[in-house]
Amino acid sequence: MTPSAAGPDGGLHVRTTTCYMCACRCGIRVHLDGERIRYIDGNPNHPLNKGVICAKGASGIMKQHSPARLTQPLRRKAGAERGAGEFEAISWDEAFGMLTERLARIRATDPKKFALFTGRDQMQALTGLFARQFGTPNYAAHGGFCSVNMAAGMIYTIGGSFWEFGGPDLDRAKLFVMIGTAEDHHSNPLKIAIAKFKRDGGRFVSINPIRTGYSAIADEWVPIKPGTDGALLLAIIHELLATGLYDREFLVRYSNAGQLVNCDESSADFGLLVADVESPEVNPTYPRNKLWWDRLSQRAVATHTPDADPSLFGAFTLSDGTPVKPALQLLDERVKDCTPEWAASITGIPAATIRRLAHEMGITARDHRIELPIAWTDSWGVEHETVTGRPVAFHAMRGLAAHSNGFQTIRALAILMSLLGTIDRPGGFRHRPPFPRAIPPSAKAPHSPAQVQPNTPLGSLALGWPAGPEDLFVDDDGRPVRIDKGFSWLYPLSVHGLMHDVVTNAWRGDPYRIDTLMIFMANLAWNSTMNTTEIRRMLNDKDAEGEYRIPFIVVCDTFQSETVAFADLVLPDTTYLERHDVMSMLDRPISEYDGPVDSVRVPVVPPLGECKPFQEVLIELASRLKLPAFTRADGTRKFRDYPDFIINYETEPGSGIGFLSGWRGPRGDQFMKGAPNPDQWKRYADNDCVFHYELPPSYRYMRNWNKGYMEWAQRVRLRRFDDPVLIQIWSEVMQRFRLAAQGKRPGRQPPPELRARVERHFDPLPFYAESLEVAITDGERYPLAAVTQRPMAMYHAWDSQNAWLRQIHAHNYLFVNPKTAREAGIGDDAWIWVESPWGRVRCQARLSEAVEPSTVWTWNAIGKASGAWRLSADANESQRGFLLNHLIAGELPCEGGTISNSDPITGQAGWYDVRVRIYPAAPDEPATTWPEFASMLPAPGTHAPRRRWQAFFRGRVEGE
Ligand code: SF4
Repeated sequence: MTPSAAGPDGGLHVRTTTCYMCACRCGIRVHLDGERIRYIDGNPNHPLNKGVICAKGASGIMKQHSPARLTQPLRRKAGAERGAGEFEAISWDEAFGMLTERLARIRATDPKKFALFTGRDQMQALTGLFARQFGTPNYAAHGGFCSVNMAAGMIYTIGGSFWEFGGPDLDRAKLFVMIGTAEDHHSNPLKIAIAKFKRDGGRFVSINPIRTGYSAIADEWVPIKPGTDGALLLAIIHELLATGLYDREFLVRYSNAGQLVNCDESSADFGLLVADVESPEVNPTYPRNKLWWDRLSQRAVATHTPDADPSLFGAFTLSDGTPVKPALQLLDERVKDCTPEWAASITGIPAATIRRLAHEMGITARDHRIELPIAWTDSWGVEHETVTGRPVAFHAMRGLAAHSNGFQTIRALAILMSLLGTIDRPGGFRHRPPFPRAIPPSAKAPHSPAQVQPNTPLGSLALGWPAGPEDLFVDDDGRPVRIDKGFSWLYPLSVHGLMHDVVTNAWRGDPYRIDTLMIFMANLAWNSTMNTTEIRRMLNDKDAEGEYRIPFIVVCDTFQSETVAFADLVLPDTTYLERHDVMSMLDRPISEYDGPVDSVRVPVVPPLGECKPFQEVLIELASRLKLPAFTRADGTRKFRDYPDFIINYETEPGSGIGFLSGWRGPRGDQFMKGAPNPDQWKRYADNDCVFHYELPPSYRYMRNWNKGYMEWAQRVRLRRFDDPVLIQIWSEVMQRFRLAAQGKRPGRQPPPELRARVERHFDPLPFYAESLEVAITDGERYPLAAVTQRPMAMYHAWDSQNAWLRQIHAHNYLFVNPKTAREAGIGDDAWIWVESPWGRVRCQARLSEAVEPSTVWTWNAIGKASGAWRLSADANESQRGFLLNHLIAGELPCEGGTISNSDPITGQAGWYDVRVRIYPAAPDEPATTWPEFASMLPAPGTHAPRRRWQAFFRGRVEGE
């Protein structure tokens, strides 16, 4: 337990830690009376939220009192069917014994038969290390379902992305454009920033099919049809290029816009950037020896040649006869026909509005130029006296990402931001360390089945960043090696894996059967997969021999979610207030624009019952299995427990790099890098659980090309190399895959049935096409797009067991524009059917002007299965709440079978692509939701809701 400080209010005392009621990770103060939590508020000293707390954060207290808390390890009762929810309590010793024996057997034979998939956990550096040490490639978190397109599309273009990777500089922006963002991701900091931005007179435009949350306070709402954002962005790029409203100077120096692309269609190098064989590569992994066409000398010269003035447009011929064009010329040709009129017919946004928005972006960037008096030196040694800014900032998230055409849409957004000259500049987009990363980042996943061997750790992490076909994880015939088929020709850049396909593939035995599926914090049997009803059937299905198709399922969770019912073994996790935890620079820290920030959680109350943090479970299992990184040479365990592991683990012996970068070194006086410090946890606890390293001002901008920053980042091992990270207007990575699909280059090539798919989607320039699902849907019969949003007051499925937050949302409606409702004969609050080609649900309609007419939408994961989360069988969540995922296909029909409903580049689930129709329920139908499922039995160790806790506000619980 951590030391506490005297509180301001009487006998209460205060402990600081980090919130986990959503993924934002604000600093909080927990006010305690002994070991009883009285209330939680925001920590004013914390750099992220500066004392602000939201409804979820303040309601963390009710998580402690949740009736759904799992409190002891559980085993499915002998003879009970999986899914029936019949469990018996067992000891941790039994649980560990059972798991160790099973996992040791798998590891000694075929480690990939163990699959570990996690939800929105904040410890992927540890879960990833465990999987690597175990030797299984079958590991990922939930990113493939959430927003991997946002991460991949941006990182493959500018080396960074939104949210914890980077974001809008609203302190200096004049125009803020939010596109495809709901009430989630980076919640409190964004609210604080938008409030200040508006007070300072900034203009806020929200482009979204729905006007809620942030959009509700926008100065202008631009409704758009879901999944068509790519068309809008290409039309805006068209306008900027047509009107000359782009930042030429920025593009020339800091992107590959001026680099020459080989345009000889007969060449094996067609579409690749031409290298200057006379110039040194400098770094073969990220060669710098490309060419510009110099307008002054009218010849090709090495890029960044002093005094050269490269052409961005035109067609040229090299001295060896090779026809070439600058990358920007090719972009210009791509968007030539992407006029505002063209985009208007797709997006539903009037052409005049698109033109006006493009003009406003270009003019604001050009005419409100910022010059900060900060001297810095670029990667080519040129000294600059000021940092220039272009005050147009963007923010985007899942609304753009969760479509099977999302990767190219997000490439278009990143290129638009680059044309405006806003990357890592004041008033625009700014990175948060450790970003920017190289393009692509240098970490690679395994690339051959031979890299998976019994009793042997993987040579690399299970997830990485492919640079070309040679980095795919396929066998000699081009078939996938991972259970989710990640990094195969189906989804070559699946950098976050495909959690949503694990159950289907394991059930089908395609590419193979597995033995044990361990799920941490992921509600795969409800809202974390598509096609929910079928997934639930698969989890219970048996083969011809009467064996479960997925033989053993382990679920680790804090609460009795829908997925718990399908477990063979349940491991009770703690709440975030009961454990140590780290938000590490090795994983997903909470950095600020001005420097790295990592933080911790420390226990403020003891664990309930026999709950054990999953971190401790992994350390214990790793020690019992004698995984090398967790074991000394003499075979004894290296780490006592998780806190001990965090202090003493180094990425390589003696590297000085560990999970935490604050207060390192034996005396705690080193930062970022240094030997382990036995007092590190105490130093964090004494400092509001957060470490903030502020970079000198000259390192805070232009970091893709900032010599000083790059050298510092390499010194402290945030980066492997210090090369500049040029913006990829033209993506050579994409072209390498396309050339392989065209059979133009030696080496790996896709299997015949996937050649056309890879060739089409791996376009080095962004393009717009309908999503896979929309392209095969009968738009006459299913004319409406159906999407979900995460509510501000609840995080994923977690909060329906929270007595306070249930008062905000206990059931959900389908929101329908009144015009659309009228045409369908639907009134306010009427019970209706929503039908897609894949299924139907019965729910209540709520008429709303705040949704564009061809879209219907609902809150995500408010609807629950009966009895889940320990709600009563007749709770509103299961009787009137509904889940849209029942309507969404996990797989789509295709020639010769089915294919995952996922982006063909990244594997991102296309769960915002479904099309539906709506019609009134018959008058004699019950006023309850459908489909319904048999009510879940209460798990042993959970308890019935106690009304006095639900009434608890501030002060002693009555009678306690
Ligand atoms: S925004 Fe998220 S992390 Fe911050 S207080 Fe609210 S729930 Fe907690």
